[in-house]
Amino acid sequence: MRVLVTGGAGFLGSHLCDRLLEEGNEVICLDNLFTGRKQNIAHLFNNPFFEFVRHDVIDPFKIEVDQIYNLACPASPPQYQFNPIKTTKTSVMGAINCLGLAKRVKARIFQASTSEVYGDPLEHPQREDYRGHVNPIGFRACYDEGKRCAETLFFDYHRQNGVDIRIVRIFNTYGPRMLADDGRVVSNFIVQALKGADITMYGDGEQTRSFCFYTDLIEGFLRLMNQDEITGPVNIGNPGEFSMKELADLILKITGSKSKIVYQPLPADDPTQRKPDISLAKEKLGWEPKVPLEEGLKETIGYFKSELGL
Ligand code: NAD
Ligand code: UDP
Repeated sequence: MRVLVTGGAGFLGSHLCDRLLEEGNEVICLDNLFTGRKQNIAHLFNNPFFEFVRHDVIDPFKIEVDQIYNLACPASPPQYQFNPIKTTKTSVMGAINCLGLAKRVKARIFQASTSEVYGDPLEHPQREDYRGHVNPIGFRACYDEGKRCAETLFFDYHRQNGVDIRIVRIFNTYGPRMLADDGRVVSNFIVQALKGADITMYGDGEQTRSFCFYTDLIEGFLRLMNQDEITGPVNIGNPGEFSMKELADLILKITGSKSKIVYQPLPADDPTQRKPDISLAKEKLGWEPKVPLEEGLKETIGYFKSELGL
């Protein structure tokens, strides 16, 4: 198949491009390189089945493809809050442009949605039928509401125009090719530990997240995309739940770092807990994560060591 991956030069998108090529597809990667990097896809430039298009998803584009994965959107809070209006435009106009394309060429289209649609959740763990607890006017709203609106657009194109949609709700995912300075907790803590710098703990560190290794996530993407039974939304994430303190301790243990933890204010609207209920993915996709946090962190730490030249 010929497959379009928007956001294909980013952390997850570049791994998805690799996997799609390995499976024998032709891949077109469309990215404006806001948070993505050519280094993530440089190893593909000599592959005749790979093309890179530098383009912004908020502007329409025409291309003939069989499948579309829409991943274009900054994912780290400091990056999506850098230009919040642009973030909303990316999610909303990006979805409209991709859906319009899917409708014209009759391609199946996949949306990378997020656990952020649940906001600061009052139900725990989060099931797909939980409608969420999002502050529509807060600092995270550009991302959360943008992704919620993209889901709305996907379902309206599906109901109104018969577009063949798939939606995944991704929970915090980590691994090689994250940017050392993207501001997300896994990259921050690892880079700080490796450099012997202070570990920046926001709030009391009791807030929880569930961390999925990228290989497990990409497997979930392909299983959802290449089955005919369900559209989603489907949660894809690792149900192992860790406090930020536990995460810091684990990273300090693996790296053997002497960094000390310093406490900083908790950003506004920072969700207190997050853990996916993955019963739907298990039942319909036969999917569950395989990589435990410690193992995935070891590989990610190895990657950052070489990135930092250590
Ligand atoms: P990332 O920032 O590494 O990748 C996003 C990519 O989109 C980058 O290559 C960036 O340059 C590109 N992009 C941003 N705005 C664009 C625009 N207007 N036009 C074209 N390209 C644009 O982030 P990631 O972690 O790889 O996330 C990929 C997708 O998965 C995002 O949609 C994100 O919201 C979603 N997601 C990720 C996580 C996670 O934990 N990694 C969790 C939930 C959802
Ligand atoms: N966090 C932290 N120190 C950091 C970066 C993040 O304590 O240097 C916390 C952050 O406040 C949040 C959690 O780690 O509670 C996960 O943050 P991240 O930005 O990775 O993802 P998200 O909040 O979008 O889940």
